[in-house]
Amino acid sequence: MVMTRRQFLGVSAASMAAAVTGCATNPVTGRRQLMFVSESGEVDTDRQWAPHQFSSNYGAVQDPKLNAYLSQIGNDMAAVTHRPGMPYNFRVLNMVEVNAYTFPGGSMGFARGLMIQLEDEAQLAAVMGHELGHVNARHSSQSQTTAILTQLAVAAAAAYVEHKKGGDAAILTAGLGGIGANLLLSRYSRQNEREADALGMDYLVRSNYNPEGMVGVMDVFRNLFTHKPGAVELLFATHPMSDERYATAVKRVKEQYPDSGNLPRHRDRYMDHTAGLRRIKGAIEDMQKAQDMMNGGKLAEAQPILKQALTKAPDDYAGLVLMSKCCLGLKQHAEAERYAQQAKAVYPEEAQAVFVSGQTRLAAGRFSAALVDFEAYDKTLPGNPNTVFFQGFCHEKMGHRQQAAEAYGKYHAASPGGEHSALVQSRLVSWGYMAPPAPPAAQ
Ligand SMILES: [Zn+2]
Repeated sequence: MVMTRRQFLGVSAASMAAAVTGCATNPVTGRRQLMFVSESGEVDTDRQWAPHQFSSNYGAVQDPKLNAYLSQIGNDMAAVTHRPGMPYNFRVLNMVEVNAYTFPGGSMGFARGLMIQLEDEAQLAAVMGHELGHVNARHSSQSQTTAILTQLAVAAAAAYVEHKKGGDAAILTAGLGGIGANLLLSRYSRQNEREADALGMDYLVRSNYNPEGMVGVMDVFRNLFTHKPGAVELLFATHPMSDERYATAVKRVKEQYPDSGNLPRHRDRYMDHTAGLRRIKGAIEDMQKAQDMMNGGKLAEAQPILKQALTKAPDDYAGLVLMSKCCLGLKQHAEAERYAQQAKAVYPEEAQAVFVSGQTRLAAGRFSAALVDFEAYDKTLPGNPNTVFFQGFCHEKMGHRQQAAEAYGKYHAASPGGEHSALVQSRLVSWGYMAPPAPPAAQ
């Protein structure tokens, strides 16, 4: 069962009431304002959920030099912000879309799809400055978003397989990427975007970068929106873009930073550090296109494009995981499992391939092998209720009713309104572990 928006909002309102912490000083404006989450709450939320989001975006790139380059830029810039003491951390993600995001404690991800589009370090620093702006002005804590993250975790995940009521196919749609892909990301208001842009340019110049980097990166995004709207769809959904934002940035450079023309952009340094990524730019763009098609349910069309991407970059973790999911959706079970095993082999520390491998084995009816995967995933990336559900499901299929009931009970306690609630409850009731739900009161 997929949670409807109404059910979801119902749960959210309840959890929100508990999460409001009252007034706090905004570190940027110095004014008191309503915050839904305390500073320690921001850090806890970040620690709890950022690892799940990073994994659903295929983890950090396995290129220590590139991650170190990004971290150096991030740490230097964070030092000039209003909240230099936050536990900032930075990684380039294997994600193929054009995107960057931050969690409220300062855990940030910059997609490969973004890195291959930027033209110099000043543009990267502009994106960094903007994300730092969101953390410093505490934007996600001013909205309900952070407060309800835990509820989002139980909402439906991206579904690549058609739902068939009651059958195993419906069960397989859940959590293909672990926790619902991108559901954990903050969605900012237009007012938040204005403020993050202003702060971003301030941090950019304070870090000795040319503020034209901000205008340049907006040009890149606007251009992509015209030619490849699918690639920036998520970015624009979370960070609303507008002509006004662009015009304001152009005006701000002229009026507030008139003497900034000679500040550096560091084009060569950026090109050197991203050379490895740009070598496989074609493959990343193919994956971008395929991912977009898969999101739209066009699996058969996506498959040849993924094949092409894997010809150009045969050991690409994101490419292999995507291909495994695509095959799974097309019911090519043996192929799906083969790609998942290959993905595990190229990036053993990353959890998503293990989860997808469990799904492929489940689909093929190999329940004990699937159980090994879900147990391994839970060790690497604990805290995803879907994993517990799938462990229970494997046990049930193997005839281990007691273990199945324990897992289902845990799932039910962790996410009572979750995607698998109906199935879990009906099993627990029919096995005698739970009383049947009370009939609705007479009118
Ligand atoms: Zn933003």
